Amino acid sequence: MAANPEADWVSRFADEVIAEAERRAPGKPIVCASGLSPSGPIHLGNLREVMTPHLVADEIRRRGHEVVHIISWDDYDRYRKVPAGIDESWAQHIGKPLTSVPAPAGSAYPNWAEHFKASMIESLAQLGVEYRGISQTEMYTSGAYTEQVLLAMRERGKIDAVLDRYRTKGRTGSGAPQQGKLDEDEAAAAQEAAEGSGAAAEDDGTGATGYFPYKPYCSVCDRDLTTVVAYDDETTELSYTCQCGHTETVLLSEHRRGKLVWKVDWPMRWAYEGVVFEPSGVDHSSPGSSFQVGGQIVGEVFGGQQPIGPMYAFVGISGMAKMSSSKGGVPTPADALQIMEPPLLRWLYARRRPNQAFKIAFDQEIQRLYDEWDTLGRKVAEGAANAADTAAHSRAVGTAAGPLPVTPHPLPYRTLASIVDITTGDPEQTLRILRDLDPADPVASLDETRPRLDRAQHWITTQVPAEQRTRVLAEPDATLLGKLDDDQRESLRLLLAGLDDHWSLEGLTTLVYGVPKTRLGLPMDVKPTPELKVAQREFFALLYHLLVGRDTGPRLPTLLLAVGPDQVRKLLTP
Ligand SMILES: [Zn+2]
Repeated sequence: MAANPEADWVSRFADEVIAEAERRAPGKPIVCASGLSPSGPIHLGNLREVMTPHLVADEIRRRGHEVVHIISWDDYDRYRKVPAGIDESWAQHIGKPLTSVPAPAGSAYPNWAEHFKASMIESLAQLGVEYRGISQTEMYTSGAYTEQVLLAMRERGKIDAVLDRYRTKGRTGSGAPQQGKLDEDEAAAAQEAAEGSGAAAEDDGTGATGYFPYKPYCSVCDRDLTTVVAYDDETTELSYTCQCGHTETVLLSEHRRGKLVWKVDWPMRWAYEGVVFEPSGVDHSSPGSSFQVGGQIVGEVFGGQQPIGPMYAFVGISGMAKMSSSKGGVPTPADALQIMEPPLLRWLYARRRPNQAFKIAFDQEIQRLYDEWDTLGRKVAEGAANAADTAAHSRAVGTAAGPLPVTPHPLPYRTLASIVDITTGDPEQTLRILRDLDPADPVASLDETRPRLDRAQHWITTQVPAEQRTRVLAEPDATLLGKLDDDQRESLRLLLAGLDDHWSLEGLTTLVYGVPKTRLGLPMDVKPTPELKVAQREFFALLYHLLVGRDTGPRLPTLLLAVGPDQVRKLLTP
C-alpha cells in the first residue's frame, strides 16, 4: 500500500487494487464486486456492501483506469423464510429460487426477487452508483456457468477436503457480528443482516450419499429439498431424490435448474469475473467462513485468485425503534433517502473506514449531522479542510461521471425542519418564513430550497413523535401572563418593541440574546457571564411557555419568524 499519509482509505485501496490488477491481468478492465440477496428488503447495513467497492471503483475511474463494478444479485438463492407482514401461505415457497416465488401481494413486479431489487435499484440511481447488475438466475439458467459446475463436480473430492480442514477446527459461534455491546436496535439489524447474507444457514453440500457441491431444484416442486444420490463424471448423469417424492436422472451438462452451494459458488464467481476487490461483512470473515474457505477453493479448483477483501463493520441506525416503518423492519436506503439527500448518505459511508462501525441517524441526531455536513462544505469551499475530509466531501458530492444534484439554496436542515414543523408544511406560510430568514439573500421560491426542504418535511412527519412536535398556542396563556413580575413584563416589552427592526434570523438572534443584556445594564458585545446566562435561560423558557406551552422548542429566532409578528404580539402582550 502506498504510504501517503494524506490519502483517505478509498485512495489507499485504489492504489492497492490498481497494483494488484496490473499483476493479475494487465491491460484488462479492473473488476470490483458486490453481492446482494433480494430475499427481502435490502437494508441500510447492506448498502455498505455496495458503497465500499463503489467508492474504490469510482476513485480508480477518476484516475483514468477502466473499471467495472459488478453487483451480483443472488436471486437464484433459495427462499428461506416468510418475513413479518407477508401472508403465511408464502411458506409453501420455501426452498424455491427467489425468482420463482410470487412477489408480495399488490406488487407490480413479476416475482419476489424483482420486487425487492426494484427499490434498491432506484436508490442506487439516486446515489449515483454506476454498476453492472448480474442476475445469478440468468447466469445459471442460461448455462453460463456449466463448465464451472462440471469442474466443481469433477473436483468435488478436493473441495470436500478443503471444507474438511475447517469443519474439524470447530466453528466460532454462529457468525453473527461481534462488536461488543449492541443496543436493541443494532441487535435487531445485525440479526436481519446475518439472515440476509448468502452465507447464512446453507449446507455446504455434504450428505449421506457423499459430497456434491451442486444442488438441483426439483423439476416437480421447484424446491431445493433434493439430495444428489449419484453422479457419473464421464456422462455427467446426475441422479437426485426430492423430499416431495420425485426422483430423476438428468444430464448435468444440460441441466439448468440448480446451483453450486454458496461456499463454492462465491469463489467460482471470483474466478469467472476476475474480481480484484470485493469486501465482505463480518459474518463472512470468521475462521471457516465462506471468504476464507473460498480463498482456498478459488485457487485449488478454479485457478483464480481471492480478491482483496476488507471486512466491513456494522452500520447501525439511531432512532429506528421509534420509526413508523410500514415494512416493520430495518430501514432501507430508500427510507434514508426520504429524509436525507444522496450526498449526505454517501458521505456517511465515505468518511469512515470500512472497519469502523457507524450509525445512520433517523432521530434528532440528523440535525447535528446536517450542521456538520454544511460546516464541512464551507470549509472545503474556503480551502480550510484537511486532505482526508476534503476527499470524503468530494466523494460524497459527485462521482467520476460528474456532480450529483444539489439543493440550490441549502438552508440549515434544522431550520427547515422547525419551520415545516410549525407550518405543518403549508407552502404559503413556509415561503413567507423562508423569505424573512435572511433579507440579504432572500428565498424567492420553495423550489430553491428543494429537495432538502422535502427531506426535512418527511423527517418531521414520519420520524418525530407527536409529543415532540411544536404546537404554537392559538390563544394567549392568560394565567401565565397575569402572574408576570415587573422584570418579565419589561423584558417582553423590549422584545416586542424591537421586533420590526430585527425581523430576520440574524436580527432576532441579536434581539432575544440582547434583551437580558439590556435588563442587566450590560453592553451588547459583552462576553457571557454566569449571571447573564441564567437570565437568558429564564427569558427563553418564559418565551417558550408563552409561545408553545412548553419549556423548550425550536431555536427561538426560527420560532419567532415562523409564528409571525402579529401572533407573537398577541401571545406575548400581558
Ligand atoms: Zn420436489
